[in-house]
Amino acid sequence: MALTEDPDRDVVVDAGDPRTVTALDDAAPTDKAGLLRSVRREVVDWSAPPAAGTRRIVFRFHSAPRRITGPDRVRGLWVTGPDDDVEMSVGRVVRAVGHRGTAVPGLPFDEDSGTVPNTGGRVARRPGTYVVGWIKRGPSGGIGANRECARETVGALLDDAAAGRIGAANRRPSGLTGLLSRLRVRAGV
Ligand SMILES: Cc1cc2nc3c(=O)[nH]c(=O)nc-3n(C[C@H](O)[C@H](O)[C@H](O)COP(=O)(O)OP(=O)(O)OC[C@H]3O[C@@H](n4cnc5c(N)ncnc54)[C@H](O)[C@@H]3O)c2cc1C
Repeated sequence: MALTEDPDRDVVVDAGDPRTVTALDDAAPTDKAGLLRSVRREVVDWSAPPAAGTRRIVFRFHSAPRRITGPDRVRGLWVTGPDDDVEMSVGRVVRAVGHRGTAVPGLPFDEDSGTVPNTGGRVARRPGTYVVGWIKRGPSGGIGANRECARETVGALLDDAAAGRIGAANRRPSGLTGLLSRLRVRAGV
C-alpha cells in the first residue's frame, strides 16, 4: 500500500473497536480489508492530538460523525465508538463519502446501489434503452473500466439493432447495416 511507503508519515489502524480487529484478522489477503493487515494497529488515544510535528493517518472503522464543536471555528468532532461517543480534537473536517447515482425520470432506479437496473447495459423493462459507466455499475473504476463497460453496452445495442429488436417498427432503416458493421469494427465487438 503506497501510503505506508512514506517514512515521514505514520499510518495506523485504530484497534479500539474489536470488530475492526476481527475483520482484519479474518480478511483474505485479496480482500480490500486484507490490504490493511500489514498496517500497524494501535488503540488510539483520541483525547489528545498527536505529538507536534507528527504526520499521522488513522483508519477508524465502525465510527460515524455525530456533531462538530467549536465556538468560532472547528475544534472538535464527536464520533461514535464501540461503547460511548468520543471527541476528537480536530482543526478541519472534510466530507468525503463517495459518489452516488441519482434517478433519471422515466427510468427504473435501484435506491440501494444508486444504479439503473440493467443486464449487460440493457435497461431492465425498457427495451431500446441502455446505460454505461457509473450509473450502470456503481461508482467504482476509472476511464479504463468505463471503456470496457462501454464496449459491453455498445455490443448489446448493436446486437439488438442487428436483430431488429429496437426502432419504432423494429425495422432496420436502409444504410443501418453498413453503419452497424463500422461501429462493430470501431468498438471491437
Ligand atoms: C474526484 C474524482 C477523481 C477521479 N480521477 C480519475 C482519474 O484520475 N483517472 C480515471 O481514470 N478516473 C478518475 N475518476 C473516475 C472517472 O471520473 C469516472 O470513472 C467517470 O467519470 C465515470 O464516467 P460516467 O460516464 O459513468 O459518469 P460521468 O463522467 O459523471 O458522466 C455522466 C454525465 O451525465 C450527465 N447527466 C447526469 N444526469 C443527467 C440527465 N438527467 N440527463 C442528461 N445528462 C445527465 C452529467 O452531467 C455527466 O456529464 C475520478 C472520479 C472522481 C470523482
